[in-house]
Amino acid sequence: TPALNEKTKFGPLADSDRIFTNLYGRHDWALKGAMARGDWYKTKEIVEKGNEWIINEIKASGLRGRGGAGFPSGMKWSFMNKPDDGRPKYLVVNADEGEPGTCKDREIMRHDPHKLVEGCLIACRAMGARAAYIYVRGEFYNETTNLQVAIKEAYAKGFLGKNACGSGYDCDVFVHRGAGAYICGEETALIESLEGKQGKPRLKPPFPADVGVFGCPTTVTNVETVAVAPTICRRGGEWFASFGRPRNTGTKLFNISGHVNNPCTVEEEMSIPLKELIELHCGGVIGGWDNLLCVIPGGSSTPLIPKKVCDDVMMDFDALVAAQTGLGTAAVIVMNKQTDVVKAIARLATFYKHESCGQCTPCREGCDWMDKMMWRFVEGNAKAEEIDLLWELSKQIEGHTICALADGAAWPVQGLIRHFRPELEARFADYHAKHGDKTSAASQ
Ligand code: NAD
Ligand code: SF4
Repeated sequence: TPALNEKTKFGPLADSDRIFTNLYGRHDWALKGAMARGDWYKTKEIVEKGNEWIINEIKASGLRGRGGAGFPSGMKWSFMNKPDDGRPKYLVVNADEGEPGTCKDREIMRHDPHKLVEGCLIACRAMGARAAYIYVRGEFYNETTNLQVAIKEAYAKGFLGKNACGSGYDCDVFVHRGAGAYICGEETALIESLEGKQGKPRLKPPFPADVGVFGCPTTVTNVETVAVAPTICRRGGEWFASFGRPRNTGTKLFNISGHVNNPCTVEEEMSIPLKELIELHCGGVIGGWDNLLCVIPGGSSTPLIPKKVCDDVMMDFDALVAAQTGLGTAAVIVMNKQTDVVKAIARLATFYKHESCGQCTPCREGCDWMDKMMWRFVEGNAKAEEIDLLWELSKQIEGHTICALADGAAWPVQGLIRHFRPELEARFADYHAKHGDKTSAASQ
């Protein structure tokens, strides 16, 4: 997308510009190491500056939600600053990281939990919340333990609780473990689950900022978004905004998995070209760049992009939307030419079918149909007209349900048809040629 290339020079982010300096777990993740890395430095002064100051810094930073949707964080946090109506306000940190390919929040909780705990205090202050709940994916047992230790250390030092950091502000942080349902990462399902109910999404509006957990104003926000807040406040919103490009600012954690020589989680400048990201940090694609088939750029809910798009696409919200996909969770799944891409997407269809909560007919029934049709394609057992039927089905699912899970199920299938239709047709032709069926694609 050269037209979007206002900025073309990137390169490895300098260590001094990294926020998550213990990403690789080389140092002590607990309080001593965290303080040596600058956490909890002058937090009292930040909290004392108050909600407007914090929100203005977050707005100036251009930070957009790191959970996948990219909603402007300063604006979202400011929704909480309404006249007091007697209801308490809550911060809920979404640590139910379940998007296939994504493990950035897990790395933060593993290696830098104090950044998240300190971020909770600062975000609570910004919103006027006195309590934060961190809802952690059930499978993240060790990460929950680290987080719990970090919280305990913070209380022992007087950083949390009554008069947190000596600022006069009272703030508590609690950890709540999920039980392994992907849908509980959807913010309203998460709220239901936190309230002790089945994790089934609610209709929005009302948004959680109006009616959230226990019927009170709530902001549900991602781990990475909260964990970068202390550094933004210490170094200034303008510092953060100096990375990336307008509307797509800051540094960002990327998970790169699949067919690369070194799968990794790395902090880089937003907008870095995808090719540069893979070659700088992952030792390239297995078999070389020319052996690349396609990439899912932002976790399983974002449609794949073929190599010709990957050649010059930038890793940011706008560039990826222009490429008919999305930044999502910035979990890059690389597939080389040895991949059966139809099978890979069929596997995702099975995942979404399994994780649908079943409330909405288009999602419950549609994901099941999509899964069945996808596996017929894998087996070469589909009819030619089913490609268009599959496309139509995905369009009937998209935008017709309570939550975004169904969109996330439809988009990977749409990406496959958009870019790999000949692959689907060839499979159909192969099967029917082999089985002597007169309805083969070749005879249509
Ligand atoms: P969304 O666009 O509906 O909402 C984003 C946030 O902005 C929400 O917190 C919402 O409450 C708030 N918001 C939006 N409009 C608002 C308004 N008018 N008033 C007040 N608040 C408003 O998206 P979503 O459903 O929260 O998230 C979808 C994304 O989640 C997908 O793009 C996907 O990439 C990502 N995802 C992430 C994971 C993960 O493990 N991190 C898993 C699945 C999906
Ligand atoms: Fe449940 Fe799917 Fe409807 Fe979301 S879209 S509420 S997961 S049935």
